[in-house]
Amino acid sequence: MSEELILNEIENNTEEYIEFLRELIQAESYNPPGNEKNVALKIEKYLKNTDIKSEIFPFGENRANLIATLNNNFEGKNLLYNGHMDVVPPGNEEEWKYPPLSATIKGSKTNKKIFGRGAVDMKAGLAAMVIAVKILKKLGIKLSGNLILNAVADEETGGELGTMWCLENQLKSIKCNFAVIGEMSGMEPIGKGIAIGEKGNLHLKVITNGILGHSMMPSFSKNSINMMSEIILNLDKMDKYMPKINPPISYDRYKEIFSTLFPSKEQFERILNEQKALQVIFDAMTQFTKSFTIINAGVKENVIPDQCEAIINFRLLPCQTVEMVLYAIKKMTTEELGYEIKNEPIGNPKEVFVYFEVYQYGEGSYWQNWEESQDLKDFVDIIEKIYGKKPAYILAPGGTDAKFFRNIDYCPQTIIFGPGEALAAHTTNESIKIHDFINAIKVYTLFAYNFLK
Ligand SMILES: [Zn+2]
Repeated sequence: MSEELILNEIENNTEEYIEFLRELIQAESYNPPGNEKNVALKIEKYLKNTDIKSEIFPFGENRANLIATLNNNFEGKNLLYNGHMDVVPPGNEEEWKYPPLSATIKGSKTNKKIFGRGAVDMKAGLAAMVIAVKILKKLGIKLSGNLILNAVADEETGGELGTMWCLENQLKSIKCNFAVIGEMSGMEPIGKGIAIGEKGNLHLKVITNGILGHSMMPSFSKNSINMMSEIILNLDKMDKYMPKINPPISYDRYKEIFSTLFPSKEQFERILNEQKALQVIFDAMTQFTKSFTIINAGVKENVIPDQCEAIINFRLLPCQTVEMVLYAIKKMTTEELGYEIKNEPIGNPKEVFVYFEVYQYGEGSYWQNWEESQDLKDFVDIIEKIYGKKPAYILAPGGTDAKFFRNIDYCPQTIIFGPGEALAAHTTNESIKIHDFINAIKVYTLFAYNFLK
């Protein structure tokens, strides 16, 4: 009965929800520098006069985190909804069809979209979570647990000042039974994804050190650019020095999961063979990847450069460590290329060596017992009911704030589910389908009701 009540309430108030989402998009929160307080104030205003306790925790220059709770009792089950308020800067605004802060609505009657920076990543997910709390309060449904809304800053620049700060300071004493991060999780052509883990992210600095000299007789020198190109060309050979780590969901298991989402196995196989994008997605979810993203060398047109510096961006499977990567790449460099490794980036002028340095690292994580969870099955059933199609379990190829929940063991049972397509994030003309946004409100509200009743 209450489910009907909730769905009717949502259908009758979609205009209000759309307006609220537009307000969040219009509240500028480009990070850097952040300005998340602009968004926090809009959320506070929206929850005003509802009897929901909402508190803003300001920091820095116009930045803030926010926590709102459905009630004041934390003794029962606690469900936590987390969404970030910051967005990436819009890039060249001239290239946008509609100004990135305009939140312009366009599209046909059945497929209306809201355009703007953050529409997908992730003001739609955040707005839907805020609205879910408000609906449960407004309808006055008797619930035994508590729903906690955590709107955070700093996600796009690491999350230490946002989610990490909230978990370590304001939320530490609250036992969390289940958490949802509302990041966009659409995976066209598959449909909705639901992430039970995410990959790690490692930036490794590489310096090749050769011997400086005149380019008229290059063989008297040792060209550091050539050295780096050897590493680039042979990088895949490091794989054989990496220990075998199984991904949380194997390639075969993915094929099983995904083929049940299509009318027939044959149809799925056909799409899989035809669509390169799908292969790329599968690879990203089951293997570790490596990409050179920055490279610098050279001082003058006629000088053989003695130092070349590059950054390799590795995306690690959960359970793969920095130590494993360092061991493998060093082994490859010495065994396959015959170079010496040095522990500092400078040597004497005739020294030839390679230097590695961990530049930045975010650990991957996943929920180990996800397959046994009834709560997760309930969440999936609600998505299927609202969207008319089962979602697919995935490993998120990019990093989110979910890693903080899992890696400090605050709440391993943390999932990522939200409106919007993952590939639409950070793009020019970012847009969210209104239908998808409204469906997410339904999913968040129904799940909270079922989980806490
Ligand atoms: Zn995001």
